[in-house]
Amino acid sequence: MTHDSTPITQERPRQRPPLRSWDLQVVDSFDVEPNMRRVVLTADDIGDLTYKPGQALVLMIPGPGGETGRRDYTIRSMDRAAGTISIDFVLHGDTPAPTWARRAKPGDRLEARGPRGGTVLRPDADWHLLTGDETCIPAIAHILETIPAGAKAFVFIEVDDGNGEIDLKTEADALVRWVHRNGAPAGPSELMNGMITEFALLSGKGHAYIIGETSNVRRQRHTLVARGLTREQISSEGYWRPGRIGGHDHVDD
Ligand SMILES: Cc1cc2nc3c(=O)[nH]c(=O)nc-3n(C[C@H](O)[C@H](O)[C@H](O)COP(=O)(O)OP(=O)(O)OC[C@H]3O[C@@H](n4cnc5c(N)ncnc54)[C@H](O)[C@@H]3O)c2cc1C
Repeated sequence: MTHDSTPITQERPRQRPPLRSWDLQVVDSFDVEPNMRRVVLTADDIGDLTYKPGQALVLMIPGPGGETGRRDYTIRSMDRAAGTISIDFVLHGDTPAPTWARRAKPGDRLEARGPRGGTVLRPDADWHLLTGDETCIPAIAHILETIPAGAKAFVFIEVDDGNGEIDLKTEADALVRWVHRNGAPAGPSELMNGMITEFALLSGKGHAYIIGETSNVRRQRHTLVARGLTREQISSEGYWRPGRIGGHDHVDD
């Protein structure tokens, strides 16, 4: 018999199993729309990859000085027959990840770890509210593709203008609203919070998936909590924020 001598007052550190490592190789790359580049990748053991739509990989992206930096990117799709996954990169600037994606050519290698992330479908929810900016299109699109037919979904996506919109495929009973910044820079704003404030909450137990720029995510989360959603009804994560390099922000306050 093992004896656990941990004092009951002491909080144990949250232990997560280490993320699995993948030696990815580029198969193809092309623009999905003018501001979004898709890179198709494979690995010898890609058939072992299991994940939930909305989850991401941590990519080891080369930087300008030859150093490697971690960047989280959603698995946009997986083609099990072809043995490939796709990742969509928003071309937001000359930073390491979009720079790598623009130059990616067949045969290039990329180390990745994962999958990770908890912003995944809660199938037992009565309705679903998904919001995000263009960095969240891969997650939202993949969740919508796999959501059960007839599920009630409300989708608000912030993009610069109509060029950033893509055709979303879903069998859900989905209401999709594209929200345009019309030239204003991506980042902290009241745009999505305004949508959430005006959103007519339905009866039943819904679930909100709130992702994107961290301060916008936090604002929307606070609005939903003030409107009566419990914290358990909201999955939220900050995907990026001005001045942050890679990583992600937990937004659970
Ligand atoms: C779980 C998760 C999944 C994600 N999935 C995707 C995905 O599928 N596709 C995708 O494109 N992004 C995704 N992101 C966001 C992406 O990881 C960040 O935008 C990341 O910072 C990009 O790396 P970078 O090398 O371009 O910029 P970094 O070197 O990390 O950042 C440099 C600076 O660029 C600015 N910046 C970073 N991202 C943006 C942006 N999107 N718009 C405007 N300015 C920005 C900030 O000021 C930042 O300080 C995801 C993030 C998380 C946490």
